Amino acid sequence: MGYLKYNIKQKPKVIVSSCLLGEQVRYDGHHKQNDFLLSQLSPLLELASNCPEVGCGMPIPRPPIQVCDQNAQLILREVASPQNEHTESMLNFCQVSKERVESTCGIISKSKSPSCGITDTPIFVDGAEAYKASGLFIHTMKQQAPWLPMIDEQALQQDEPRHFFLTQVFLLAHFYEASSTQSLKAFHHSFWPFVTLFAMDDSSINEAILDDARLYRDEFFGRLQQLASIETLRARWQKWVEHQSLPREAADLTALCSSAHQFWLRLSYLYVDSSSKYSLPFNLYPLTSSSGHSL
Ligand code: SF4
Repeated sequence: MGYLKYNIKQKPKVIVSSCLLGEQVRYDGHHKQNDFLLSQLSPLLELASNCPEVGCGMPIPRPPIQVCDQNAQLILREVASPQNEHTESMLNFCQVSKERVESTCGIISKSKSPSCGITDTPIFVDGAEAYKASGLFIHTMKQQAPWLPMIDEQALQQDEPRHFFLTQVFLLAHFYEASSTQSLKAFHHSFWPFVTLFAMDDSSINEAILDDARLYRDEFFGRLQQLASIETLRARWQKWVEHQSLPREAADLTALCSSAHQFWLRLSYLYVDSSSKYSLPFNLYPLTSSSGHSL
């Protein structure tokens, strides 16, 4: 085979919450430096600092804010003075940021923040916490760029979500290089079979879409955000092995993996191009299955 080779010339660019980089931009004037991010990932990724609250004009220090759900509309309000809203300025900042994310390969974001949280920001209804979801900046970015890989600093400490995030980031970097050098078709024929294997939607793609790199990116990476269940993947992989006349061991790969994420990572691990200057850092992150097998 020879699929899933990552051979990129530049470090993938990733947007990072400024406070995780040690910048004193939080509402209380402090930071939330993440040493793992700085020591392990900064050699591999170009980390672009981004503080949406400062970016939309709020001072340091500043009054704490929270996200309120008002008839399904998300509103950013100051906790102590709810009449003071920052929704419009944040949405304006998101509009400006839209251009920026077009050229980046992912977002590493601060958990639980009213602006930067990905899944665990408290959302308030009528003054009481009602549910958890994304902060307003990330919520808007998810709508504007649904293909963009995102992870918070807590998930970054866990092997499987970190591996999957990095795999998507490096794949997206590979895509940007391919699309800028007119070699999108080669990219498509190398990687698309794997996306149809792993994604929830396994239908094929209209090749005409290859004429528009942005449409192709949205389709390809959008599907990659929604992986099939491991049961579906096992059934598809079985057929794939028979069709491609792969050795018996290839069929056994799924037995070592408890999720589609792990299986995707396992394949990436096998076919990573070790001659690349910037390749996936798998040597740092050996995978182990739930049964203790080394992957
Ligand atoms: S969590 Fe986001 S908005 Fe809050 S200080 Fe950090 S970067 Fe700024």
